[in-house]
Formats: sequence, C-alpha cells, structure tokens
Amino acid sequence: MITPILQALGVTSEEVSRGDIVVKSPIDGREIGRVLSDSAQEVERKIAASVQAFHAWRDVPAPRRGELIRLFGEELRAHKAHLGKLVTLEAGKILQEGLGEVQEMIDICDFAVGLSRQLYGLTIASERPGHRMMETWHPLGPVGVISAFNFPVAVWAWNAALAIVCGDSVIWKPSEKTPLTAMATQKLFERALACFGDAPKSLSQVVQGGRAVGEMLARDARVPLISATGSTHMGKALSPVVAGRLGRTILELGGNNAMIVAPSADLKLAERAITFAAVGTAGQRCTSLRRVIAHTSIKDQLVDRLKTVYGKIKIGNPLTEGTLVGPLIDGAAVEAMERALAQAKAEGGKVSGGGRVLTNEFAGAHYVRPALVEMPRQSDIVKRETFAPILYVLGYSQFDDAMALQNGVAQGLSSCIFTRDMQEAERFVAASGSDCGIANVNIGPSGAEIGGAFGGEKETGGGRESGSDSWKAYMRRQTATINYSNALPLAQGIRFDTE
Ligand code: NAD
Repeated sequence: MITPILQALGVTSEEVSRGDIVVKSPIDGREIGRVLSDSAQEVERKIAASVQAFHAWRDVPAPRRGELIRLFGEELRAHKAHLGKLVTLEAGKILQEGLGEVQEMIDICDFAVGLSRQLYGLTIASERPGHRMMETWHPLGPVGVISAFNFPVAVWAWNAALAIVCGDSVIWKPSEKTPLTAMATQKLFERALACFGDAPKSLSQVVQGGRAVGEMLARDARVPLISATGSTHMGKALSPVVAGRLGRTILELGGNNAMIVAPSADLKLAERAITFAAVGTAGQRCTSLRRVIAHTSIKDQLVDRLKTVYGKIKIGNPLTEGTLVGPLIDGAAVEAMERALAQAKAEGGKVSGGGRVLTNEFAGAHYVRPALVEMPRQSDIVKRETFAPILYVLGYSQFDDAMALQNGVAQGLSSCIFTRDMQEAERFVAASGSDCGIANVNIGPSGAEIGGAFGGEKETGGGRESGSDSWKAYMRRQTATINYSNALPLAQGIRFDTE
C-alpha cells in the first residue's frame, strides 16, 4: 500500500530501501521503509549550503518569497489525500486527523502568503530635528526545525512557511520515528521550488537521524534559531546547548492540559469536548486533555456519562472509517502508560479502562483502551505528562481551588473551562486566571487554529509559533536612524563640542 503513495509524492523505492533508521507502521508493526541517517559530514555540508541559500534568499522581495509558499500550498492541496494517508501509516493517527494535519499545512501557507506583504516595521518619532527613526525586520538566517513524531509534518510547516516568507532558509530534523513523511514533504517542496524557478536549491533541507543530529544543529552557531518541538526532557537538554552559544530558541514542549467543568456547564458539550481531546490521536497530542477538574455537584454524573462514552469508542485500524482511536506509536508508549496507571492506583486512583487490546489482530502493534482515573487529589502522577490516553478526574468545590489545581502543574500549554457563568469565564482568561499559553471557554484544549499564536508557558518552553505576530521570532529587529539635516544633534541633549 505504501509504495504507490510514496511514488505519488515523488519518493522512489530506492530512497526508502536502505539505511539505519527502520520505519515501522504503528498500525501493524510492519516495516514500511528504511532511511539513512545523515553523517556528521553531511549535516555540516547541509548547514553550509543553508547559509549560502540564506544569503541569496534574503534579498528576494518578501511578496515574491510568498509566491513560493503559495506554490507549495498548491502542491499540498493536490497531494493532500496521499500525504494525509502517509501520516496515518507512519504516525498511526486516524485518517481524518492525518488529512487534518495536511490541511493545517495548507492553512499556514495561506497565512504566510498574506503575511509576506505585511512584515511591518515602525516609524518612531525622533527627539532630534531632521532625523527619522525606523524599526525594520530583517531575515535572520538558517532556521533549524526539530520536530516530534506526533505532528510529523504540520509543525515543520508552521515554522517553515513563516521562516521562508521572512527570508530565512530552513534545515529540518524530523523525528526518527517519522522520516518518510518528512521525505515526502521535502519532495513536494522541491516541486514548488521547480515551479518558482530561481530560488536557491538548498532553501529547505532535511537532515535525518536521532538526537545526535539534532544536537549538531543545536551546537552550530551558523544556525541562529532552533525551533524545537518535543518532550520537556528534550527541551531541557537542548536549551543550554543553544544558550551556550547565545543562539535563540522557540521551544514547544510537553503539556498537561486541564478542563474545569463548572456547575453551570452544558454537560453534553463538555462530554463531547472531553472525549475528542482526551482520546483523539490516542492521547498523543501536546494539547491532549489529561485532567478534568469537575465541580463536586456534577462530578459523579460526568464520570458516569464519560464511562458510557468510553465504552463505545471504536479502537482499531486508523485507516478504517469509524475508528476514533488508533494505536500508540510504539511499545515504550504502552509501557509508560502501564507504569502511570500503576502509580495512579498506588496514589489512590480508581482506574477504569486501560490495558492493551487487539493483540491477536495486530500482534506487532500497540493498541490500548483509553483510561479514566478518578483521583482523590492532584498527586505526583497527575502532575506528569504521560503521552497516552489517560484522563485523570479531580473534584473541586470552590472556583479558586479549581484554578489552583489547573495552574498547579509544571506545564503551561493549553487549558479550558466549561461554564455558562460569565464571571467564571472572564476570571479564567484574566491575569490571575489560567497561566497557560492557550485558554479556552466552552472549547476543549486541543485543535488550535493557525491564526493565533501557538505555544505555552513554564515547562512547555515559552515559544510561540504559527499565527498572530509569531513571525517576529524568525527575523532580526533593526532600529535605524537617518539624519537628513546639516547638523549633528546628539541624543539626550548631550553637548560634545570639539571646535
Ligand atoms: P522527543 O522529545 O522524544 O523528540 C522530539 C525531537 O527531538 C525528535 O526529533 C528527537 O530526535 C529530538 N531530540 C531529542 N533529544 C534531543 C536533543 N538533546 N537535542 C536535539 N534534538 C533532540 O518527543 P516525541 O516523543 O517525538 O514527541 C512527544 C512530545 O512532544 C510530548 O512531550 C509532546 O507534548 C511534545 N509536543 C509538543 C508540542 C508543542 O507544540 N508544545 C507539539 C507536539 C509534541
């Protein structure tokens, strides 16, 4: 099944038939390709080529740079079905989500095309007569993008579409668990480059490999910005390396996202939002819902309803229509889930669900039943991100206590409240409310739109990507003052007479 898809995307069988990275589909554990890691020399060569590409690209007018991204968006539209299916085959998310991921790439391309005519600076009033002061945004340099397995292509696109209209070149190190989707995306980008005509060939490149290849990018001073998406553990290792050379980072790390369900909440809406956010992508989204903080007056009712819904969720082959929960990425993910459930029990949790399923049909794969865990308090395990479909349920009686629980974890990515009480809604999004990068009212924590800035606080890393003014992170700011008078007045009224 995979060969015609790869071929349609421009990847030859030869390119995926040898190498040290063995790619297995999480659907059935079968090998679907082999990819060669880049050697240190290859990474070095690609970084040098990226610097050269940047030097040529930064002088291309920004709206013309936008034209390349427009062409790339067209390639994505034409190949959405194939690339979406490849995401499902390689990352295991259900087909609707695979297609949704490619749609997100298309959306950010559209955003970036518009942005290419809006990289606005400022004109600032100068205190000196006959002077004009302005703030300009210039291209930054090669941008290193390190991405995680669970959004194997969209995260790169959020970064690359903006970086390229901003005049930067891009070097992408995808997850070693999803090298094929990266290869296919690169092929589509190369087609857009060919249509465009005169863009540098190495404008966007892929380097394949694991942590060591990521570290090479992190260490290299020719790469002024590293945008890294992955676990907090990875961020804590990478950040000091980049900081050690005073480079910049955009860090998009782990989340531990909560929903407060207030007494006035529309429980039907909340139940739907909880189900999508907690079990969608088999709990393998950075924005997956991991904690429900429900008012004690409705908690038991909510838990009963959720148990009924959880009982009906179709787990299985993510390519089959109607499946809502596909496999976990690998065996290590199942072990992490089992360890977390054991610890939750030891900390007083009441577990329903969990455990491996479909072990006969898919012996080489890792399907699990989503778990619901009623916890007596926000114990250690609840404060940790386990990248699997585990939903902890906690109770509260005072709004302030709910807020304290919501904010009482190290991560700060996404958050939400279901309420029809206007004061509660406003308090949730106020300065003393949610401390997360994303705060929603009557919407679940996952599935952000590309128009807003995406990212989170605290151990989520503080980076922002995608919409709003996130583009500024991919450029360097310059303050320029021009003297069009015949005098040389000094700032702050300083007199410095030499005659
Ligand atoms: P991971 O941390 O294992 O790997 C992510 C990437 O970092 C991979 O490409 C990996 O090779 C690379 N890497 C690992 N250590 C490195 C190092 N020291 N230096 C340089 N590169 C290094 O994460 P994963 O298992 O692929 O993804 C799941 C995690 O990603 C979860 O914690 C999830 O919350 C997080 N995530 C966050 C966001 C976000 O936007 N905040 C989005 C998606 C995933």
